[in-house]
Parts: sequence; C-alpha cells; structure tokens
Amino acid sequence: MSKIVATAAIRGAHKIVGECESFLDRAIREKGKEAKVEFPETAYFLPMIYALLGEEVKQVGDMGPILQYTKGLLHEVPSDAVWLPYLGHTLDAGIATLFAEEMIMALRYLYGTEPQKDCNGFFTDTIMRTLGIQLVDGRMPGFAAILGAAPDSKTAVKIVRELQKRSILIFAGSSTNGTSIIDQLIAENVQMGWEPYVVPYGRDTVSAIYPLDWAVRSALTFGGLRKGQARECLMYCKDRVFAFGLALGELDDLKYATGAGAINMGFPIIADTEIPEIRPTGITTYEHLVKELDYDKIVPTCIQIRGVKVKVQEIDIPVPYSAAFEGEVVRKESMRVQMGQKYSKAVEYLRMRDLDDVVDGQVDVVGPDIDAAEAGGAMPLAILVDVAGRKMQKDFEPILERRFHSYINMAMGVQHIGQRNICWYRVGTETFEKGFRLKDFGRILHYKLHEECGKIVDKVAVKVFTKLEDVDRVLGDAAVAFRERDARVEGMTDESVGNFYTCTLCQSFAPNHLCIISPERLGLCGAYNWLDGKASFEINPRGHNQPVPKGETMDAAKGIFTGVNEAVKLHSHGHLEQFTIYSLMDTPMTSCGCFEAIMAIIPEANGVMVVNREYPDMTPVGMKFTTLAGAVGGGQQTPGFLGIGRLYITSRKFISAEGGMKRIVWMPKMLKEDVRARFEKRAQEEGIPDLLDKIADESVGSTTEEILPFLQKVGHPALSLPALM
Ligand code: SF4
Ligand code: ZN
Repeated sequence: MSKIVATAAIRGAHKIVGECESFLDRAIREKGKEAKVEFPETAYFLPMIYALLGEEVKQVGDMGPILQYTKGLLHEVPSDAVWLPYLGHTLDAGIATLFAEEMIMALRYLYGTEPQKDCNGFFTDTIMRTLGIQLVDGRMPGFAAILGAAPDSKTAVKIVRELQKRSILIFAGSSTNGTSIIDQLIAENVQMGWEPYVVPYGRDTVSAIYPLDWAVRSALTFGGLRKGQARECLMYCKDRVFAFGLALGELDDLKYATGAGAINMGFPIIADTEIPEIRPTGITTYEHLVKELDYDKIVPTCIQIRGVKVKVQEIDIPVPYSAAFEGEVVRKESMRVQMGQKYSKAVEYLRMRDLDDVVDGQVDVVGPDIDAAEAGGAMPLAILVDVAGRKMQKDFEPILERRFHSYINMAMGVQHIGQRNICWYRVGTETFEKGFRLKDFGRILHYKLHEECGKIVDKVAVKVFTKLEDVDRVLGDAAVAFRERDARVEGMTDESVGNFYTCTLCQSFAPNHLCIISPERLGLCGAYNWLDGKASFEINPRGHNQPVPKGETMDAAKGIFTGVNEAVKLHSHGHLEQFTIYSLMDTPMTSCGCFEAIMAIIPEANGVMVVNREYPDMTPVGMKFTTLAGAVGGGQQTPGFLGIGRLYITSRKFISAEGGMKRIVWMPKMLKEDVRARFEKRAQEEGIPDLLDKIADESVGSTTEEILPFLQKVGHPALSLPALM
C-alpha cells in the first residue's frame, strides 16, 4: 500500500467533508432545515447514502446525522512515521468522500446550480433502467468515468473513440488545471449525449458522484437489493457493473479520495501520469490503481484491468463500427452524400434465394460510387440483398430486411432512417474521407446478417445499384414483394387471434417506445406486421418481438386490453400505463421516429389529416412533416397525434374509436393515390364509396381556412360526427 496514496486520499476526504459541512451550515441558515433536497426523477433519494446507509434524505435537516456519521469515517492523515499495510483507512476515506460529494451535489440542486452548462447533471432512474437493458443484453459491455483532461483535445477524441468502438459507455468530466475533457470534446465537435455513449457529467471532481450513484442504483434495481445492504451493494457493483475510472492528467487530493470511493465499489482507476500503483488483487477484480502512459495502450489497459468483455467488431470497413454510433446524426453541413427521402430514389430489399444461387460474401457495386456525386449532393440507391439458408423461410424476409436500419447505422458517420422504398441514407464527409464507399454497405450487411441471423442465414450476397434504370428496376420488383408481404395479413382480424406482438426494435433510438402489433394494425414503420412479429419470435424467442396475450377486454371500442397494458408497462419501463389500440385521442400508442405517415387532429374540421413522409410541403395543422415528426416522435404519448404505417389507414380498425376513416379530412394527393385501391374498397363497406374524393388535398388547400368550405360543399361525413374534442 502506498503511503502517498493513503495520505492524499485521506487529506482529500477531510477537505471535502469540511466543504460539505460549511455548505450544509449555510443551507440550514439560508433555506432552513425543512427545505426539500432531492435529485431529479429518482426513487432512491440520495442513492449512495440510501444504498449504503439505508437512510432517506428528503430535507436539509436529514443531512446532519449523515454528516456526523461521515466524519466518523475520517481517520488522521498518516504521518511519515506510520506505515499502512492495508487499505482500510483509505477506503473509509473514500466512502466518506462519496457521502460528502453526494450531499454537496444535492445542495447544489437546492441552490439551482446544477446541472452545469452542457452537462447532463444527475442521471435519472429512467436512464439507468434503459441503459441497464443494454448492459444485460450485452450491447454495452461496461462503462468508463473519465476525470480530468487529456494533454490535448486530439488525444481526448482518440481515447473516446477507442472506448466508443468497444461500445463502452463514457461519462466525461472533472478537470485538470482548469481544463475539462468536456471542453476538449466540444472543441473537436464530438457529439455528446446518451445516444453516442458520451455523457458529460460536470466539470469538477465532486460531480463524479453521478456515475457512481448510477452504478449503485443498478444494485438496487437489477440486483434486487434493499437499502442499507451496503456490503451486498458494493459486491454487486464489483461483480456485475464493469466500470473503471480513467484519470487524465495530474491527480489532486480530491481525485485520490474519490478514486478511493470508486475502489470500494470494485472500480479500478487507470491514470496517464506517474502515480504510485496499487496492484494487489484484493478489493477490485484485478488491480486498484494502475498507470499507463502510452495513449495507444490506455483503453486496452483499462479493459484488461477491469476484465471487461468486449467484442470488437471485425468488419472490414474504414470507420469504427459499434452500437455506440447507432443513434448518431449526420448533419447536412457534415454530409458528403445522401440517398433517398425527397433527394433521390432509394430502396432496400432483401429476398430469399436458393442456396445454389447465392455466392456468399459477394458484394457488387453497379454504377458510379459516392465519389461521383457532388459534395453534399444526392444519388439514387438500390440495395438488393440475396440470402439463402436451409432454415430460411420467405416469411423471414421482412424481419431480416428491417435489421438493415440498425446494422447500417452502427457505422460511424453513417445515418439510416426509414425502410423499404422510403429509406434514407447519409454518409458523412469525415467517413467518406476515411475511405468509406458503397461496397462497405455490402460488407456491413453481409457481416451482420451472418453474425446475428446465422441460425437461419447461410449465404448472403449484396448488390448495390446507383444507375437510375437499375434502381427503378429493383424498386419495381420490391414493390411487388412489399405488396405480397402486406397482403398476407389481409383478411385476418384482431378478434381471430389470441396474441398480439410487441416490437421494441426502436428502443435504441426511443428508449421507452414500443409498437403493439395486431393483425389489423401494423407497426408504424409499415415494415412489421403481425405475421412478421410471429416469425421473428420463432427465429429468436428472446428477441424484440414478444407475444402479448390479449387478456381481458376492458373496452372493445377503444381497444383496451389488460394483457396489452401489462406489456406496455413492462416494455416502456414503467413509463406508460396504457395503450388503446384503436383510439387517437385516449392514451394512443407512442411514436418512435420511423413512422411512414403522421396523423393529426384538425379540430376546426372535426377530423384528422394524414401526411406521408415524402410530402415536403405545408399541411393544414401549420407544420410540415419534419416539424410534426419532431413533435410526435421519441416515444411520447401525445393524444391527437400519431405516427402510423400507411396500411393502417385502410384497416377496419383505423381509429375506430373516433369513427374510423370517415374522420380523414385531408391527405396529400400522392398518399391518396397510393392507398386508392384499398381505400375505395373500404369506403364501399362504410357506405360512402366516394369518400376519397371528399377528402381535401393540397390542390384544395393547405390551411384549415382553405379546406373548410370544400368539406362543407362536398358534405364530408366528419362534419356530422360527434365532436372530437
Ligand atoms: Fe418495430 Fe415499431 Fe420500430 Fe417498426 S417502428 S421496427 S414495428 S418498434
Ligand atoms: Zn422506429
């Protein structure tokens, strides 16, 4: 045991406990003992104190006894004459530091000085649960808390990228000599937030309590431990939470003290400076405190020390590839080229072939590559994937195809939105400059389909087309297949089945979103119907599509089922209580971001409008599709607004609680044409064969003032339905 470390840590603990004491005195004076203290959105009060001491700190006055206890953990700073052969006193100092830091942060919330600029602040329970899933399913092997600053911002980026590449969640913060890694990353335009796995917590060492609070709560949430089970909580963190600290730059007393706190939880500290190491294997799984001066080796060292099991993706593409990049956005300014949306034609299509007809691993690019497109421009694209396998079935095509979304997105600097013939690809400039070309789409799909769907896929070949005539041809073939897929569920009713299915595929973007898929209502992306859910469950019983027994029917008209509600609660991680399957106004389903179309109420017309993703212009609710998408997306429940798959428009269950298709008062012309055949059949059934012509479109107008006279003139049925609001 190093004397220097013990001295510094104990000194640091004394100092921070002293600061906590004077802050608490001040708070008692200025705010009173009854003033409420709390962190945002947590059921665990001050989590470290709650977990280790079993105390619920709710107001300023509750902190007094905790502070007394904390002071009791402080031992004298060892003099030179004392040799401490074990960690005991240092560990006590560490725990005292964590309690003091936690109280300071809670008091800062009371004073409104947290979160700091550009920082996340305290991590809510929701975030903890969401990311917990990723820990459990292995998407995230562990997390790193970085304290301090790298020697320069380029090195900071390098370290962060190395961690991202391994899907390790990064908490960035604290400072060294007045510089914080947070500002180094900002200077290099590194995207930060939960989606890219880089979360800035705060610019001082005290705020490093946030990631530790997050870790200790996982013992309570996932480990099923109760408050006050200190030893068990610490053991859980050590055994189950693969975290480590990375101290960049000189360590001061408080960093040593906080580090000692982390070591209690089994989290080792790796530093990039000449520090005295503590290498015996005792409390931590491996070493406690280790230095690594070589920045090329620092991340591998961390992983080795903590025993994190990472699966580095071995796809042969020129940019990093991992789930950490899945939610990353490629902005227009940093985009080299895009395909799809309103900018060019694009389609992705996967089809089953005989084993003999597929050469595994073959990737062909037919037509000009990205270089040919002007910078910031667009080009047509068709991605045709042929798969074969002894266990492959035609029914599995759409499920495999729907995976493209996340596969493509995981490449750094590549963005994918949508599916089928409304897919939208973007490749960033930096990614292009690193050498990323169209062939790499093929490499990614080949690798991932084998890796994740290897049970059913034996061979994968990919063709990428960029000449318009080829793209049109694939579009034509795909359209036939898409229609066939959609037709398979036609004729099935929700009443005829015992189970619906969940789909939680989009939780990587919208963490609490789920689709409930029934025969008469497909997923809002339009690419997943009830049979797909069923097939997907067959392929992977622990996957994203789980059967939902309907349970008791609570309201047949609105479509409220006890089983659905249970599934909604479970898969939204307690965020949502209820989904009505057939209503727009009462607890409707949530929307992620993949919706083919959006419907929104037009109160003046006592009806709704539906706008499809491809329609670029203004709509009667005063918003374009993109603005509307921002308002409804992200997994929120917003009565009156709903993302839907196009086919739902012609379902017998289309907002049947509100009167069904008779409510539609406006749709863009292109959408009307797209649904015409099916719509007219349904309108006939409803007894209004000419309903489609009574629906206004942009040729009538794009404001309520313009469309109202038209609706009155044609006698639109919505006007005589019961009031919507
Ligand atoms: Fe699944 Fe819904 Fe996402 Fe489609 S939009 S992939 S159905 S969660
Ligand atoms: Zn989605």
